[in-house]
Amino acid sequence: MDHAAQLLSTVFGFDAFRPGQAEIVEAVTRGENVLAIMPTGGGKSLCFQLPALCRSGVTVVISPLIALMRDQVRALREAGVEAGALTSGNTDAETDAVFRALDEDRLRLLYMAPERLASGGTLSLLRRIGTGLIAVDEAHCVSQWGHDFRPDYLRIGELRRALGVPLAAFTATADAETRAEIVAKLFDGADPVTFLRGFDRPNIHLAFAAKNNPRKQILGFAGARRGQSGIVYCATRAKTETLAAALRDEGHAACAYHAGMQPDDRRAVEFRFQQEDGLIVAATVAFGMGIDKPDIRWVAHADLPKSIESYYQEIGRAGRDGAPAETLTLFGADDIRLRRAQIDESLAPDDRKAADHARLNALLGLAEALRCRRQTLLGYFGEDPAPCGNCDLCDSPPEVFDGTEVVRKALSAILRTGESFGAGHLTDILLGLDTDKVRSRRHDELPTFGVGRDLDRPQWQAVFRQMMGRDLVRPDPARHGALRMTDTARPILRGEETIGLRRDMVKTARSRPEARALVSDENAPLLAALKAKRRALAEAARVPAYVIFTDRTLIEMAERRPETLDQMAGINGVGAKKLDRYGAAFLRIVAGEAPAPVHPARMKLAGRSEGALYDRLLQAQAELARGEAGTGKPLSCSASLLAKIASLKSPDMDTLAGVLGERRTERFGPAFLSILQDD
Ligand code: ADP
Ligand code: ZN
Repeated sequence: MDHAAQLLSTVFGFDAFRPGQAEIVEAVTRGENVLAIMPTGGGKSLCFQLPALCRSGVTVVISPLIALMRDQVRALREAGVEAGALTSGNTDAETDAVFRALDEDRLRLLYMAPERLASGGTLSLLRRIGTGLIAVDEAHCVSQWGHDFRPDYLRIGELRRALGVPLAAFTATADAETRAEIVAKLFDGADPVTFLRGFDRPNIHLAFAAKNNPRKQILGFAGARRGQSGIVYCATRAKTETLAAALRDEGHAACAYHAGMQPDDRRAVEFRFQQEDGLIVAATVAFGMGIDKPDIRWVAHADLPKSIESYYQEIGRAGRDGAPAETLTLFGADDIRLRRAQIDESLAPDDRKAADHARLNALLGLAEALRCRRQTLLGYFGEDPAPCGNCDLCDSPPEVFDGTEVVRKALSAILRTGESFGAGHLTDILLGLDTDKVRSRRHDELPTFGVGRDLDRPQWQAVFRQMMGRDLVRPDPARHGALRMTDTARPILRGEETIGLRRDMVKTARSRPEARALVSDENAPLLAALKAKRRALAEAARVPAYVIFTDRTLIEMAERRPETLDQMAGINGVGAKKLDRYGAAFLRIVAGEAPAPVHPARMKLAGRSEGALYDRLLQAQAELARGEAGTGKPLSCSASLLAKIASLKSPDMDTLAGVLGERRTERFGPAFLSILQDD
């Protein structure tokens, strides 16, 4: 184990194992058959990469996605480990290089797509090269009932038997059925040593908000996180396009992504997202499994996801590097109607529909939660943690009032109108409004007419939404979404149970979400300089920024400010090879030989609000230096120009054009204006 700990720091540059990793690495290195279930971002790859270096022979890694394999191979090579992949995406030269490394006995890890197992020569190849261990990534792909089923995964068990070597299987999918299937298919039913790690992702901040001008909410959230990589999940293809355009209008680098796009266009977006630092992708759930970017800083849902599992998986793409990441999930009554209708209208058998409703209910329960979101979320996965201190409800506990009376009024309106109407008309009745529909149905003669005047329309909307969210009422698909009471509501109607409702759901949506800073104010300029250095190196090497160093590593550098190579080596993520390659360059940045020393024009603004404005303008112009697409002619603004803009009293496009001139206004105007008007 000492050897492993040593390699952990010298090769991978980590000074400690993440929770659970040490035991898994030990078992895999010992040659046990292992099944490890770890949450996304838990650090699964290390659990087979490290043993691969400790054991003799080649470790064969089966992984379902070419993009993921390529990234891992690239990252391993960057860390000085001989690794290669045999996939259909290889060029001939790449394949030749892999075989050469195999022939010369240099290769430690060989990545392989499952399709390759179908070809006759593979077994003899793997025998010949001395395969010592099989590692299976995304092992749930063996499950025929899952969404990710890959028939070729069924050949892995046979391969294990034929080679007679240990097998280590990894997945983030924990449910008991999938686990049993993996054991049956990969291990012939003989129980492997199993590790089940907790599902918490403590670095991810959780937040929900009721929809209230959702487009503005998303733009506000993204605007407060300018320059950070993020994903906005949308329920429809059309919305991905309009949101991406709206984000671009605000000066963000943003693209749309959905399954209706040409494969080439989709790949181009995936590539840009992986490669760039700070791109936003507005996507449907089609943007998912191929994404292996560890430094996604935020995930927003413009619409409610389909179930609690989808929610967990989608927010889980954020912050895999362990640095703070943020999420925001918007939801409204329309989302609930849409998701219920999708389930009801599906062709699934009834018990499956009931299960899907239950999974949706779990998510709605989370959306309308009255206490710590993480407790609610992990409770669903069978864990029972303390309040987390890293969710919106821990940040500001909701104001809860006894809603029993209000809910009974609403239920009474529903029942007395024969469960035939939606929330809009029911609200009219409760408010005592004299509409045509009310009059023609003689609903003004009901005893419920006008009993709800103590609340206004938005408040009643919030009440109905919460009632749907708590599954007290459900839209009836056969009757155009008319609300029907469920059995859950009966005890409340009969006065046997009370119910607490949130008062603030409508109001909170208005307060603008503040971004959490990754580092303290005083370290922010250094972090920006380190990132700029990283970007320059990444562009020169044509690799994604995180392959040089992850955000987390840069954050630690900015906070600990290493002065020597020794101290630099002590930073998480700085292994021997990277220290050798990049250590000196980053030390120079820390030592203050920053690429952009503070300009006198900026110094004059120090300590004033214009100073911060100047820094944001500077960043925006750096991002747009080569235009939106990154391919334009380089263009920049002088420090004194920026200082002048930061000091503008009432900025609009015309004044900007007066200061910047035509060409610069075209390139930077919209981004600058949105920063100035944001302020
Ligand atoms: P997953 O479990 O989702 O496959 P990865 O293996 O991609 O996760 O790891 C997620 C991130 O965590 C990567 O950026 C990886 O470099 C980092 N990581 C893994 N192990 C450690 C560790 N012991 N210390 C610090 N960072 C780690
Ligand atoms: Zn919490």
